[in-house]
Amino acid sequence: MRAAALLGLAVVACPARAQAPLLPPPPSVSPVPRAVSPSPAAPLALVPPASTAPPDLTTPTPPAPLGSVLPALAELPPPVPSPLAALPDLPLAAPPAVPIAPRVVRVRVRVPAPERLPQPPVVAVVPQARARLVVYGRSAQGRALRAFVLDSGLPSVGRVTLIFGGFHGNERSTPGVVERLHRFLLQTPTAWINQRVVLVPEANPDGVALGTRDNARGVDINRNFPAGWEAAARAARYAPGPRAASEPETQAIIALIARFRPAKIVSLHSPLRCLNWTGDLGRAMALAMHASDHLPVTATVGYPTPGSLGDYCGVHGIGIVTLELPDQSVEAAWEANRDAFVRVITLRPFGE
Ligand SMILES: [Zn+2]
Repeated sequence: MRAAALLGLAVVACPARAQAPLLPPPPSVSPVPRAVSPSPAAPLALVPPASTAPPDLTTPTPPAPLGSVLPALAELPPPVPSPLAALPDLPLAAPPAVPIAPRVVRVRVRVPAPERLPQPPVVAVVPQARARLVVYGRSAQGRALRAFVLDSGLPSVGRVTLIFGGFHGNERSTPGVVERLHRFLLQTPTAWINQRVVLVPEANPDGVALGTRDNARGVDINRNFPAGWEAAARAARYAPGPRAASEPETQAIIALIARFRPAKIVSLHSPLRCLNWTGDLGRAMALAMHASDHLPVTATVGYPTPGSLGDYCGVHGIGIVTLELPDQSVEAAWEANRDAFVRVITLRPFGE
């Protein structure tokens, strides 16, 4: 009921308020309150909000002189519909951004020295040791003559070292030392990068099996090579065989050398404890090994060795060292000569 009364007041009051600025009520209007009045039930104290309050008719505003208003109204042109009225309502555009003056912010940045800047990772080419088994022949008793061809990196011509053990089957430590070297080279390819090593643990496998100096046919392989063989044949103390390179082990070694063309050969024996060299390169090899194992360096073992591998290499310009180990265990001989092997393997032949 109260709300309806307020609404009624508002409906009546609005037209009067809208006309107030332009058309004040004429002076003849009686200052009697309007017929529309609050219902009797409404309390008299009810005062509508200021915004909807009817004009105070009891004290009408003094009318403006007609001359100042009516002529102006008469001169007004007829209202022209604004073309903007036909435009659809557009959303209010965001106010233009007020340009903000840039703030200078000083920041301390610690710039590391160039050498401390993060460096790109170094791509290290770690050589892989590759090994392959070559059966380069058969012994007199049919045993495989085995050579292990080991490569580290990219060996070039002249960087081939051939190492023999087991030439004499009764010199027990030499095959084991070569096998120990085999393991070491596979485990440490960086110690002999860009080299090829051909390892023959048992040049005379029949003699190793029998525990004899000679091969199964009673011939000393190390007197059977075609290098001064006739002299060996004349001396009663040697067992050079019926002719030069008569033995399958000797023939196979000659073919192996022709196939891999080593610049350097090391042949293990015992127990004379020396580094016996042949040829200028052989001397350089012996000196390089001596720097590590400190064995005596000698051009001769004290007696001629016609038909030996050493003489054969001397004839063919291959550097060779006969490493005569002392009488010692495989492990002791390995420890004493490990660095000497690395030195001779990595020694560059002349002219390289
Ligand atoms: Zn020997």
